[in-house]
Amino acid sequence: MSADITTVPDVYYPCVENGKYFDRHQTLKNGGFSRKYKNGLKCPCSCHETVFKKYATFKKHCSGKRHIDYLKSLNLEYKDPVKRAIDAERDLKQSKIIITSLSNELERLKLRIDFLETQLKCPVGNLISFE
Ligand SMILES: [Zn+2]
Repeated sequence: MSADITTVPDVYYPCVENGKYFDRHQTLKNGGFSRKYKNGLKCPCSCHETVFKKYATFKKHCSGKRHIDYLKSLNLEYKDPVKRAIDAERDLKQSKIIITSLSNELERLKLRIDFLETQLKCPVGNLISFE
């Protein structure tokens, strides 16, 4: 018998100092990356599910346009608290809509399950003898 062990990669967070986000790679060199991120690393800037297993590939990723644009957007959001508040309010409204929709779907499915369970409990003989 073997147990499945699922490993979840860490999520990368850039450093922030004095309100500015940036990458700091010094601690990841010379095996630091594999020691710190044993299960690999995902970057929030990537829309795909890339898991970085090696420092060299992650460093190359950080010099790419998508990652640089991601840092720029973080810095813009950090500097504009009004925009952050507006975005947070928008996200909260969207989350409430999604929760309500899922809650309604759950109630609909519960009713359907109850109906189907009632159908299963109904003796077949009664349906056949119904004439
Ligand atoms: Zn990135």
